Amino acid sequence: MVEHLGPSESAVSETNLRQTRELRLADFVIASSVWETIESDDQQLYTDIEINKTETEQLAELYELIQAKYWFMQPEYLNMFPHQQWDIEVGNHVTPIYNYSSRVHIDPLNARRIAHSVARFSASFPDMHEPLNAITVVDHLPETVFGNSTDFPMHAETQVYAGMIALSPLAFKDEDYRPDLPVLALEAVMIHEQAHFLLDRTLEVEWEAAGFTWEYDKTDNYELYLPSESNECVTEYGRVGGVYEDIAESVTAYLSHQGKLNITKQNIIAMRDSMLRLPEFDVSKANEIKLPQLPRELHYYLDHNRVDTRD
Ligand SMILES: [Zn+2]
Repeated sequence: MVEHLGPSESAVSETNLRQTRELRLADFVIASSVWETIESDDQQLYTDIEINKTETEQLAELYELIQAKYWFMQPEYLNMFPHQQWDIEVGNHVTPIYNYSSRVHIDPLNARRIAHSVARFSASFPDMHEPLNAITVVDHLPETVFGNSTDFPMHAETQVYAGMIALSPLAFKDEDYRPDLPVLALEAVMIHEQAHFLLDRTLEVEWEAAGFTWEYDKTDNYELYLPSESNECVTEYGRVGGVYEDIAESVTAYLSHQGKLNITKQNIIAMRDSMLRLPEFDVSKANEIKLPQLPRELHYYLDHNRVDTRD
């Protein structure tokens, strides 16, 4: 059946057609690389918004999605080049570590510690939703997001969509992770960040069902939380950080056999533990630094739409 265009529609059809074509191209690009990582509720929202946007706005939005998915397209990384690359191999999966920090030198021991933490985590929780695509070491992370870098220092940042963990130089200090979680910083930080990858979303439901809840702490200027009365947290960081930080801290305590973890939390995590044998792992220093590349279709799209990638 052929649909006829009415007179009012054909009057604007030239611009409309062009915009529709561009929109479809944008949709195609998103569908092929970014779309599947967005929750279905957000997809609906995104579709609703996008129809009302201009081409320029759509491109800007697309670019934002690209940066969320491909960490090396973010302004902090675009004009930087790492001075070291280590490849860690766990099972059959290779993850590069890119060192951008002027304050850190990754030695073989540190590389092995990182690889061991990835192996340790995957022996217990092998079914990660997102693969660990890269680990970076950077100087640009804030010292804290809780207003107090002595009590709540920021060791790292996880970007779940990108499958990336960014470590700050603090993670490489030869000291305990926290006073209330005396595990070597680098190992603990890596476990904590991987827990954000896999376990935040799944354990959140169980945490809440067991009555482990938080409210905003309105007495503080920063976005700190107050746990409910029976909600015993293994560290002060988990206590003020809310559900996701507490899950990550609890998993870190669990895997490092810190006995002071609340028994209910301990049991919830144990239910998820696959308890596999530690997979074989190895590390090697790359002779030549090789950064990841954008998929070819994205390159083509950006080139043809002249998106300025230099921010
Ligand atoms: Zn965290």
